Amino acid sequence: QVPIHGKPGTVQERTFIAVKPDGVQRGLVSEVISRFERRGYKLVGLKLLVPPTDLVKQHYADLSSKPFFNGLVDYMTNGKAPVVGMVWEGPDVIKQGRAMVGATNPLSANPGTIRGDFCLSVGRNIVHGSDSAESAQTEIGLWFGGKGEVVDWSFGNEEWVISAN
Ligand code: UDP
Ligand code: MG
Repeated sequence: QVPIHGKPGTVQERTFIAVKPDGVQRGLVSEVISRFERRGYKLVGLKLLVPPTDLVKQHYADLSSKPFFNGLVDYMTNGKAPVVGMVWEGPDVIKQGRAMVGATNPLSANPGTIRGDFCLSVGRNIVHGSDSAESAQTEIGLWFGGKGEVVDWSFGNEEWVISAN
């Protein structure tokens, strides 16, 4: 049995990726999922929710002293659109997930990244990705802490996607 947060450094490494309300509002849920699927990563957790304020405050606890914090929490929780929370699994998925998401400020994000392809503003940057093994563990626990919310399963074609060497 894999721990819900996965095993960093193995093929069962896991990260938390979310499509934020602006990404959902703009119809980009499938775009984000599709990029991770095509890369070969495995979807092991998925939910649609208007997150409780407490959850978002904990999720962004390291930013609580920033001037944009209240606006950030409101944007995530005001219910104008929900958030799609996901857990993705596979080799180096934490670092690669960040690379696929792109820089925090979309104007600095490379074309080819999600933010670099779809957004213009740091306050509307459509996706979240855990930035380290520690954050992945904390965030998966926060968003998917309930029993059975993260699912262990294997690709039938795993040997064609991930080799032992
Ligand atoms: N954010 C913002 N203004 C800023 C910096 C960040 O609104 O000047 C928001 C933005 O949505 C960002 C989130 O706060 O994605 C978290 O910031 P962080 O620095 O952790 O960036 P991320 O990890 O999302 O790239
Ligand atoms: Mg961050």
